[in-house]
Amino acid sequence: MSDLQCIVCGNKQNLKFELKHKVYQCASCDLYSSDATFDLSFQSSLEEDSREIGLKKLRFHNFELIVKALKEEHFKDKKTIKGLEIGSGNGWWLEVCRAHHIDCIGIEPENTFEDYYKANNLQVVSGFYPDVATDSAEGYDFIIFNDVFEHISDLKSLLVNIKKDLKKDGLLIINIPMSNGFFYRTATILYYLKIQSFLDRLWQFNFHSPHINYFSPKNLPAYLTKYGFQLLQNFRLETLDFSSIRERIMADNKMSKPKAYTISSLLLLIKPLIQNTSADIRVFFFRQ
Ligand SMILES: [Zn+2]
Repeated sequence: MSDLQCIVCGNKQNLKFELKHKVYQCASCDLYSSDATFDLSFQSSLEEDSREIGLKKLRFHNFELIVKALKEEHFKDKKTIKGLEIGSGNGWWLEVCRAHHIDCIGIEPENTFEDYYKANNLQVVSGFYPDVATDSAEGYDFIIFNDVFEHISDLKSLLVNIKKDLKKDGLLIINIPMSNGFFYRTATILYYLKIQSFLDRLWQFNFHSPHINYFSPKNLPAYLTKYGFQLLQNFRLETLDFSSIRERIMADNKMSKPKAYTISSLLLLIKPLIQNTSADIRVFFFRQ
């Protein structure tokens, strides 16, 4: 394949990075797309989630911010809020919802966390959306993707189904990594210095479910507009928990202790820079 056609604006995407898979960039809207061919559409990178110490605290912090926006801004006067999460992974979002009395169910094709769902009494349907029935007769108040939307190949049919499963004034919420964030830009610089591993890591090309697209704060809303979704709000989420970062990196067995110490020191040193440049993860709220 020599080039791809941009799903956002229809222009040609040119070859940008030759990683484990090829990555193409649209010269017009800046969308990055890979030629990774996996079609395990609705999976987050489970390997990653289950391994990292301190990640739970960070994710819970981000989820609390999303819940706050839901309850205080969008569904202020609603007694019950009914949601669906596509690709529930470790089930953490569902736990946060339950703690806040939001009635959210999940769909997850992988069985890695089944025991955890059972032990924690989380309602997760096994299978792929929209194949599995989820009792959406009256529609959902919101449908959410947490680190999942960027893994999906056939976004068109996905969005058509979501429109049907949402209530008329329902919200689509997308929590997603950004191509203009600090780490993506740093990894791009490293790529041109002949260090590929960071970009491969960001694209998750070493995992079974790699990223298909890398969106920006501009081209994601532009894409969703094509399906009649209007952007209501978007804000920054955090990528690193600086309070546990040294501990996390030092626990990585693949890295020598001096190297781990140096990297964690460097990250702590540039903390103000990371927190004040464009966010690596953002969450977007759309109304259909
Ligand atoms: Zn484009």
